[in-house]
Amino acid sequence: MSVLTAFETLGPTDRDAFAAADALAETVFPKAEALGEDGDAQVRDAAKAAGLFDLAQRAAPEALLTLTVVRERLAASGARCRKAALGPSPGLLQNASGALQARFAEPVAQGLRRQAFAFTDDATAPVHATPAEGGYRLRGRKSFVTGGLAADHFIVYAQSDAGPLLLIVEEGTAGITRADPFETLDGGQHCALVFDDAFVPEAHRLGEAGQGKAQAFTQINRTRLMLASEAVGLMAYAVHRAAEHLQAPRPKGPCLGDQEGPQLRFAELWMPVFAARALLYRVATQFAQGEGTPEGLAALKVHTSEAAEHVLSRALQLCGAHALRADDPLARSYREVRSWQFAEGASDLLRLRVAKARLAKGRGAL
Ligand SMILES: Cc1cc2nc3c(=O)[nH]c(=O)nc-3n(C[C@H](O)[C@H](O)[C@H](O)COP(=O)(O)OP(=O)(O)OC[C@H]3O[C@@H](n4cnc5c(N)ncnc54)[C@H](O)[C@@H]3O)c2cc1C
Repeated sequence: MSVLTAFETLGPTDRDAFAAADALAETVFPKAEALGEDGDAQVRDAAKAAGLFDLAQRAAPEALLTLTVVRERLAASGARCRKAALGPSPGLLQNASGALQARFAEPVAQGLRRQAFAFTDDATAPVHATPAEGGYRLRGRKSFVTGGLAADHFIVYAQSDAGPLLLIVEEGTAGITRADPFETLDGGQHCALVFDDAFVPEAHRLGEAGQGKAQAFTQINRTRLMLASEAVGLMAYAVHRAAEHLQAPRPKGPCLGDQEGPQLRFAELWMPVFAARALLYRVATQFAQGEGTPEGLAALKVHTSEAAEHVLSRALQLCGAHALRADDPLARSYREVRSWQFAEGASDLLRLRVAKARLAKGRGAL
């Protein structure tokens, strides 16, 4: 039985994208998964041939729904090599001016440069930008920069007297040090970034001073939607694995799926995924049509990241202790989803955002 089918409300373009992602997951991933970097190269080539590879690089709002469809289906494979199927997104540089596009955004999209987003401040030393001749001087410390060790440049969010702003800061700039490299539960690599009077030219500012927060949250919102797509896909994988295990023959007696106890536990996995999928497509469609709201997205991100931890954990329990092997995709997915209750906004802060939208801002009609 299929892991997923195309969501009912999708139009022809997104159904085609779903079919292409489904074919990639079913035919290319099983062979590529065991081959490491060679397998990733095969996935990349197949994704390019299928017209999927550049999806994360498209700026049009409707591409967000297509990207949601594809990310969800690829994640439902549970395969590690799915990450090679979508090319790097220029992220905040998507709408940068011509010179910054040529110098930074295009090389990122081509895989020639790596960038990292330095947003989260160390509470003891928030990063501040002070105007200096021809640019800014940065002081302070960022505490959690994913991919920071390997990045060629950083997009740094800084406070200034004119309001928050975003600056592109090149690796090797005098006055910048990477510090405290660490790995998280999901295997992600991160570091802190220390700014000690680092000079950044004005030409490397993204947009206007004062607009940094709005710009940053446009990107953070996009990433929240992508995390939710991955979370729903991985939950679908967990349901599929649990169904396979319950239907498998046992050395003695009936299979687990013939007994009502395991059937009840299975329904408790299936139902939250059914609901989460409906929420995912509701919010993704709103954003693709330019009608998305931060509170809708916050609700989606909290709901899917918390449901994913619960569903992956309960699926592990149903599948038995062999699924706890560190290299089992179910165990790996469990480790991966836990961090999403922090990344791109901690759950409780997003809950507060939902409450304020309704109680203080008069938004949030259901
Ligand atoms: C895998 C991963 C990747 C990340 N990558 C990046 C990155 O690339 N760039 C980057 O800049 N950051 C990154 N982050 C950091 C991430 O943005 C922060 O972890 C997140 O914003 C939460 O902040 P914090 O961890 O400092 O938690 P804290 O702010 O210390 O909050 C801890 C807890 O306290 C509670 N809390 C906090 N404030 C309030 C409040 N006002 N009211 C009520 N409760 C509250 C919440 O329950 C929260 O879970 C990453 C995090 C993870 C897990």
